Amino acid sequence: MAQDLRRACLMGHPVAHSRSPMIHNYWCRQLGIAGAYELKDLTPEDFPGFVHGLGKNGYVGGNVTVPHKEAAFKLASARDAAADAVGAVNVLWTEDGRLLGGNSDTHGFIANLDERAPGWKVSGCRALVLGAGGAARSAVYMLRQRGVGVDIVNRTLARAQELAARFGAQAHGTGALARLLPAADLLVNCTSLGMAGKGALDIDLAPLKRSAVVYDVIYVPLETALLRAARARGHRTVDGLGMLLHQAGYGFRKWFGGDPQVSPELRSMLEADIVAKTPK
Ligand code: NAP
Repeated sequence: MAQDLRRACLMGHPVAHSRSPMIHNYWCRQLGIAGAYELKDLTPEDFPGFVHGLGKNGYVGGNVTVPHKEAAFKLASARDAAADAVGAVNVLWTEDGRLLGGNSDTHGFIANLDERAPGWKVSGCRALVLGAGGAARSAVYMLRQRGVGVDIVNRTLARAQELAARFGAQAHGTGALARLLPAADLLVNCTSLGMAGKGALDIDLAPLKRSAVVYDVIYVPLETALLRAARARGHRTVDGLGMLLHQAGYGFRKWFGGDPQVSPELRSMLEADIVAKTPK
């Protein structure tokens, strides 16, 4: 019956490109849950009012994406530990009339790495993270939680320094890249460079040891130029699609219940959509 339908949404600006509805609506169908996941394009001016009226607007909760993750952090009356650590909320739900916030990008980042590169954490593991924005915050937090030493390289050194100070990592400008590469067991691209429609990530992988794992959080295209170059050199590679898939279950369980799984069928469905819609 229509009145039993539970609705969640993605709140961001823009949101039209999002593949989250494909994921959540697939799980609703698969688990036989009367749920719907929709897109809500909200300007920064409209976001707080919409969130305050989330229930009245007919939603049990939702995901939050760029540029509202910090605003959502402030609007939530309590948050999970990961959200508190990174200072950003990407999942909102209500409990006993209270608006609660969580961060599932953190879990998505590490679950994807564990799944696609089992055994990646070698003894004395050192990670080199490129970028110091939102994705890098999730990555650095989770890597430090696992006891990995982290070097952060970012175009804007001050942002790298702020992130490094927060989580006990080392900050560097882009000039340090060639010097840092030989020590890295894990190289992670958390910049937006290499994404379809953005600039290229200019990096020479020659100093990287063959055993190093190369992870790009970008998933459009599925195989970025960085991952292609790494694969050609024999490195194990991890793309960003699994991060998107693995972060989604947390919100789904809060809004709809059930036990959603990242199945090969779900991944194939998204891969096909990305390949079909990404310009060659
Ligand atoms: P963000 O907060 O805007 O950070 C962007 C980062 O890229 C910053 O470190 C920025 O450096 C750097 N950057 C941008 N343009 C650059 C350029 N021309 N030269 C050098 N550095 C440049 O973005 P974000 O939210 O972290 O997202 C970053 C990427 O991760 C995006 O492509 C996004 O799609 C992807 N992502 C994927 C997932 C997933 O689930 N797989 C989740 C989140 C994000 P400055 O600090 O110097 O500006």
